[in-house]
Amino acid sequence: MKVIRTIQEMQEIVKQLKQNQKKVGFVPTMGYLHEGHTALIDQARNNNDIVIMSIFVNPLQFGPNEDFDKYPRDEMHDKQIAEDHGVDYLFLPTVDEMYPDQMGISMTATDRVNVLCGKSRPGHFSGVITVLTKLFHITQADDVYFGNKDAQQVAVVDQLISNLNFPVTLHMIPTVRESDGLAKSSRNVYLNGKERSEAVYLYHSLCLAQQKIFDGEKNPAIIVNEVKKYIQSNTSGTIDYVEILTFPTLQPIEEINQQFIIAVAVQFDKARLIDNFMMSADGKIDHIAL
Ligand code: AMP
Repeated sequence: MKVIRTIQEMQEIVKQLKQNQKKVGFVPTMGYLHEGHTALIDQARNNNDIVIMSIFVNPLQFGPNEDFDKYPRDEMHDKQIAEDHGVDYLFLPTVDEMYPDQMGISMTATDRVNVLCGKSRPGHFSGVITVLTKLFHITQADDVYFGNKDAQQVAVVDQLISNLNFPVTLHMIPTVRESDGLAKSSRNVYLNGKERSEAVYLYHSLCLAQQKIFDGEKNPAIIVNEVKKYIQSNTSGTIDYVEILTFPTLQPIEEINQQFIIAVAVQFDKARLIDNFMMSADGKIDHIAL
């Protein structure tokens, strides 16, 4: 595995790869790698000749009171994991390398961002599409891999790719969970012992929603209420949202009669956790096609 720190070197390598007709799979991350990330790498490895992974904690997607400075970082550990999973090129630019000057062009995500995390993190997805536009240009990826856990990110990237005609295919990989069901996340390290034992109730709350649907409940508002009550009575966290929406268009639904996503976000003391299930109208877990 080769570690690349400059855009110029990455672009020179990519030019060569393209001349040699190599199919490039790309996995963008913010590092502190866990099995959720490696599931993306493994899929990229299966589908492509070459796998590029980026690790870049993108300041543009963090709000002023968010955890940019404290975001967990561990380059040595990440290099080892990337190497063990067959990454060919690990792209590790600095903030100065990615944003040497104030950008003279700004990108704003306007659709699919007024719900869920986009609502409570204004500007977040504009930061995400800006860095991804740069990374898609730099890597010239044929395939790009994202996790279902960050479902709204997938929805917004789907829009970015189609609106700006990026010649890249988006793949969504199912959420990887701890043995008790908690979705793996770099931010889980912020949880104290009590919060860690409570955090699993996000997953259980989604299972409860699924059970309601199995029992015949069709009213999204009733399910959302039950899920909120359940999270409130089992955790010390503050609910940011519980929403039932279409996917990937993220529109509200009146009745559970089509594929949908139920997504939750809960703020603990230092960690804001998110999770979701994508389901068909009968409550079966679904991988909704983009
Ligand atoms: P991050 O480093 O948190 O920005 O995540 C990088 C990529 O890994 C994103 O596409 C995430 O959706 C994905 N990812 C993070 N956690 C998981 C997980 N538990 N299961 C599957 N994918 C994940």
